[in-house]
Amino acid sequence: MPTVSSTNRTFVLGLIAAAFGVVSWAEPRSISDTDLADETNTAEWLAYGRTHNEQRFSPLTEVNATTVERLGVQWYVDLPEDVGLVSTPLVAEGVMYFTGTMNVIRAVDASNGKPLWTFDPEVAKEVAGHKRQGHVHSRGLSIYGNKLFAATWDGRLLALDRTTGKQIWSTRTFPLTESRYITGAPKAFKGKVLIGNGGTEHGPGRGYVTAYNSETGKQLWRFYIVPGNPADGFESPAMEMAAKTWTGEWWKHGGGGHAWHAFTYDAELDALYIGTGNGAPWNQRLRSPGGGDNLFLCSVVALDPDTGEYRWHYQTTPAETWDFNSNMDIVLADLEIDNKQVKAIMHAPKNGFFYVIDRRTGKLISAEPFAEVNWASHVDLATGRPVEIEAARYSKSRSRVTPTPLGAHSWHAMSYSPLTRLVYLPTLHATAEYDDSTYPADWENQPFLAGTGVDFTAPGEPSDYSGSLQAWDPVQQRAVWTVDQQGLWGSGTLATAGGLVFQGEQNGIFSAYNASTGERLWSYDAGLGISAPPITYRLKGTQYISVLVGFGGAYAGGTVPGATELGWAYGVHTRRLLTFSIDGAAQPPPQPAPYFPQPIFEAGFDVDAKLSALGEDLYNDHGCAFCHGPDAKAAGMTPDLRASPFPLSEMETGFANVVRDGNRVGRGMPGYPGLTNHELKALRHYIRDMAHKTITAGTAPLGEH
Ligand code: CA
Repeated sequence: MPTVSSTNRTFVLGLIAAAFGVVSWAEPRSISDTDLADETNTAEWLAYGRTHNEQRFSPLTEVNATTVERLGVQWYVDLPEDVGLVSTPLVAEGVMYFTGTMNVIRAVDASNGKPLWTFDPEVAKEVAGHKRQGHVHSRGLSIYGNKLFAATWDGRLLALDRTTGKQIWSTRTFPLTESRYITGAPKAFKGKVLIGNGGTEHGPGRGYVTAYNSETGKQLWRFYIVPGNPADGFESPAMEMAAKTWTGEWWKHGGGGHAWHAFTYDAELDALYIGTGNGAPWNQRLRSPGGGDNLFLCSVVALDPDTGEYRWHYQTTPAETWDFNSNMDIVLADLEIDNKQVKAIMHAPKNGFFYVIDRRTGKLISAEPFAEVNWASHVDLATGRPVEIEAARYSKSRSRVTPTPLGAHSWHAMSYSPLTRLVYLPTLHATAEYDDSTYPADWENQPFLAGTGVDFTAPGEPSDYSGSLQAWDPVQQRAVWTVDQQGLWGSGTLATAGGLVFQGEQNGIFSAYNASTGERLWSYDAGLGISAPPITYRLKGTQYISVLVGFGGAYAGGTVPGATELGWAYGVHTRRLLTFSIDGAAQPPPQPAPYFPQPIFEAGFDVDAKLSALGEDLYNDHGCAFCHGPDAKAAGMTPDLRASPFPLSEMETGFANVVRDGNRVGRGMPGYPGLTNHELKALRHYIRDMAHKTITAGTAPLGEH
């Protein structure tokens, strides 16, 4: 059984707090859709994007351009067991809830950080003995009624009692034998909880979202994103329509489209919008060899929230082949365009175009590039389709494409201020090379192996502003101001009526900008990369701003070279929840300097080139690089294998215990039971080879930077 811990001391403190009315210890108030849509409630932050419209805009003004210079840490919680932190904390009735590594959920007093309860869903127990991909982080939680909802890496959807942290129900959303995972926040609305999953990079899979009854956990409906084998019949007219846009035997690869992020409920129009994923595999030549748009990949799809029935879709990247999914947040706003009020969806997917869509009909209103884009010249507003540049579509060839599989924008939330009428958009600027020349047409997608169907490399960060924060005017479709940033992966943003925009960066700097001009008005050095988006709330007359500190997400896996230059080595810096207020004077212990693990040279270990080559294939095929980095060079999500003692000669058994038997599954390292002794040996030779080569080349960064 999953465990709840609540120390006696905490319990007593809770009772005392309850007696003084600081924390509600009684039955929590029931949160409704009206509450979740209420823009005026500044005391709480009830949903992932603050309210149902996902704007991440707070009407609070106490922290503003004048007072922000006095912002200081009010309280903090150290999280020494955590690794990457990417989640949005929620605040309800004076309690803050947040989710960390391995889906451990904590509740703390939002006025001072005092722990109330911790719930450990014991993910390792579910994963043990099964292959999995190592996505141990979660982007958040959901509140509805009197419950708190969470989803786990291994595919469970959980309902917890908000007061005690005790589990009320648990529902498995996919079998453990399928190569899927959940990193997203569930979306609760209208007595339901919705969740999808990820997995298009890890084997054959067919994407779907599922809605469950929020009281019981019973499945209400499931919407498949791509069609299955027509011979089996179609689940819905939408799937029959979608199947006409696929060719070949796509179902053998699953097709993909997994919805791992971006679920928006429109309380005004009573509609649900989901952002869908790229294909499985990425490469369209292998997935749907005769072409076709491949619906509903890379789309915004509107569904009936009660039945899951299809209403409309807009596809951002037809015939997708670059991992340009549309899993990025879907933000609702009323915009005045050509003297008309438009009920708009704003959406900035990986492909680099900013879309404004009429959400009553799904009709595209405008689309302009918000970053460097070389795969399409523009979006034709008459047809609603991108006009592709031929050279970008590799097919048994090599193409250099901008943006990259990380996207021009990823899951880092954008915010929208109805006061400035600007979107604050974390942007990535990079280029990748795709090469599928070695992939035959009969290539097969295998569960739990890295299965993109194309090799891709990110040749590095092309400029000194590989990241940026943009203030984007969605009506004029242009940037009003831009802050160039060194390094990718700036966090999601928070906009406030105090005229401020808050954002953290991968270099550990947390900043407040003037929302109208982009001038940096305040900053704080957290001493560790920030990947999670900040929130704000107000208790007893004080405005608080909170952010989780802990370099995380795909970039922290080291998949782009810049990530390994930051010095956020595994286990060195303390992951932390920071909460700021005006004149806050808490002093968190300083973080260690950036640290670069030193690769180990084992004098007696003669690297066998053939074994190392086999080891390299195994390393890449098993997706080891997603977390441990290309060339075994880690960026902090995991230990740097070149500096780890486990692959050394005398640790042969220990290495097998970790890699084959999974005895570190508690730390998020799944086992790979099928590996033979010969393959384990090959992996050790590859890792030693990488370590020795780094040392010989003199490219191991030494000490601090
Ligand atoms: Ca993907």
